[in-house]
Amino acid sequence: MKGVALLVVLFLFRDAPDAFAVQGACNGAVAVVAAATAEEYESVCAAVRSCTPFLKSLGLVLPDGLTLTLDDTPQGKSLDHAFGYYDPRSNSIHLLNYRAALEASRAAPSFGVPLDPAIWRSYIIHELAHAAAEGKFRRGVHRHTASEYIASVSQLATLAPDERARILENYGELGGFDGEEDITLNYYLLDPARFAVNSFLHYLKPGNGDAFVRRLLLNGLPDE
Ligand SMILES: [Zn+2]
Repeated sequence: MKGVALLVVLFLFRDAPDAFAVQGACNGAVAVVAAATAEEYESVCAAVRSCTPFLKSLGLVLPDGLTLTLDDTPQGKSLDHAFGYYDPRSNSIHLLNYRAALEASRAAPSFGVPLDPAIWRSYIIHELAHAAAEGKFRRGVHRHTASEYIASVSQLATLAPDERARILENYGELGGFDGEEDITLNYYLLDPARFAVNSFLHYLKPGNGDAFVRRLLLNGLPDE
């Protein structure tokens, strides 16, 4: 664990006097490049704090130099993700800020529950898990599908139990993926929320858990 390096720079926007742009680092690991409000900055750091022990249980740590930017509008590469993405080439996460995510989720809320700060934070954790998994995959293995599994499990496992129960209630018919062959990119692309719930329930089954995640990091999954 690195020492806490907290550097916060506040700018006042001329056209939005109640908004701050916050720049800083949480736990010396993630630089929040641009967060719209101080509360959002705190939310990002809370997400980092709450996912760190779970990621560690999977043998994962956040990479050095990771940056996270909160955006007002969806960025180009977020097509297959509800609110953002991790770009391994620049080791950076882009995510819609809370207000923009709220707007984007109004028509069709993810997981069938209205977005709230805890659900929004779970999406931060989803992307943090992608970032943590990226460097741990064995060289050359197919990682797209496997990374979605790891990110989905991290997202749901770190939610407060009551928040998670609200989500799982909407998917009572799901029992978790039966086996590796059912965990596919096509399934993810068709319905990321069902993929996430089925991944989480699969992770909970005896014999899976962190051992299964370690196998994924070693062998990956077909990207189809
Ligand atoms: Zn993802």
